[in-house]
Amino acid sequence: MEQIKAVRADITKLDVDAIVNAANSSLLGGGGVDGAIHRAAGPELVKECRRLGGCETGDAKMTGGYGLPARFVIHTVGPVWQGGMAGEADMLAGCYRRSMELAAQHGLERIAFPAISTGVYGYPMVPATRIAVATVRDFLSSYKTGIHVVFCCFSENDLRVYEQVIDPSEERRGGRAG
Ligand code: ADP
Repeated sequence: MEQIKAVRADITKLDVDAIVNAANSSLLGGGGVDGAIHRAAGPELVKECRRLGGCETGDAKMTGGYGLPARFVIHTVGPVWQGGMAGEADMLAGCYRRSMELAAQHGLERIAFPAISTGVYGYPMVPATRIAVATVRDFLSSYKTGIHVVFCCFSENDLRVYEQVIDPSEERRGGRAG
């Protein structure tokens, strides 16, 4: 199995060791993927989150998965896009790196990420995807872990962006043939 892949799915349905939640700093739930994860996990999740005391932008914290197929949820707080000069790239990379660190520390084998910050937080899709893929690849090669990473895309367009960033040569071949 490839160590990195992109799929189009609802992340709340994925049967992996951990799904990552694009949370807000309160960790008490919100809209988008955060709301979907809390609805699917059930009320025990927010109870555990209340004990965590929030989370800084670019950091991550782990909880149980409760009603989800995933055993754990890694809650990370992405940056709000402010034009790109406010440290957004470093903070977004931090989300992926800290989530991978938690997964490695807990011996997890499969983790799924949503496209952090690209919804309500407004981070442009292509640069956000480049950061996601590069940060995860850096982590995997530096730490030599066997963790399998799924980039879970909610739309067909997001999936195309991920596929192209993961393997640009594949996309060019597809483009010429099609
Ligand atoms: P943020 O506030 O970090 O921008 P959002 O939840 O608004 O978070 O969006 C992050 C990404 O999650 C977007 O690409 C959105 O399409 C996607 N998303 C929303 N719901 C789901 C879901 N159930 N599964 C996977 N991805 C989702």
